[in-house]
Amino acid sequence: MFYGFSHTEIWIIGTILFILRYVLIAGVFFYLFYVLKKTRFSKFKIQKQFPLKTQIKREQFYSLLTFLIYGCSLWLFVFWVEKGYTQSYSDLKEFGLVYFVVSILIMVFIHDTYFYWTHRLIHHSKFFKHIHKVHHGFTSPTPWAAFAFHPWEAIISLGFIPIILFVIPHHQWALVVFITFLTLYNVVIHLGYSIPKLKQFKILNTPDAHDFHHLKSKMNYGLYFTFWDRLMGTYYEG
Ligand SMILES: [Zn+2]
Ligand SMILES: [Zn+2]
Repeated sequence: MFYGFSHTEIWIIGTILFILRYVLIAGVFFYLFYVLKKTRFSKFKIQKQFPLKTQIKREQFYSLLTFLIYGCSLWLFVFWVEKGYTQSYSDLKEFGLVYFVVSILIMVFIHDTYFYWTHRLIHHSKFFKHIHKVHHGFTSPTPWAAFAFHPWEAIISLGFIPIILFVIPHHQWALVVFITFLTLYNVVIHLGYSIPKLKQFKILNTPDAHDFHHLKSKMNYGLYFTFWDRLMGTYYEG
């Protein structure tokens, strides 16, 4: 039992919450940019063609598959927390509010580094067509593509979670805030529309850079930041 829930209940509730968060965040951005303000924002559209309904359905299908896998992984993660194997804590006073915020920033940095290097790995010709080709099937992505992965890629994308669980002391709600931020940022880079304000922060990854990655594959492997790309010579300002 975890917070009074059985592991099966955690799996079901966790999966539903993953899906709801995705539908809410991707849905708001999609509705705003592709429906409500489509004409007004058209000058910011990065690639001029709009996605077909079949593409959006595929993006949603693969994302839902990803969340089923994420939901299953919760079973294992909760088991580790329950057994006291992890660095998880529930009393905010233990490390204080400043550390609560710092721990989220550490998670973002670890995730960005993990994402950059595993992303480069799955672009290797040995792995690409088996693992990452599904995500690159969307050459002009929409917010719904944020988690549209082949199941193998969904599993690989979870690999940084044990690093956080076992190495970084973290409040359980810090993890929830981080995963919500992850979802939000991932949706933003798949927006398909340029956000000029975001482009002013040179260190941040942008929809332009990630759109270019979907189109041309070989540059811009980062998620939140550009520094790994800049450091490794894989940056192209889309
Ligand atoms: Zn992508
Ligand atoms: Zn890629």
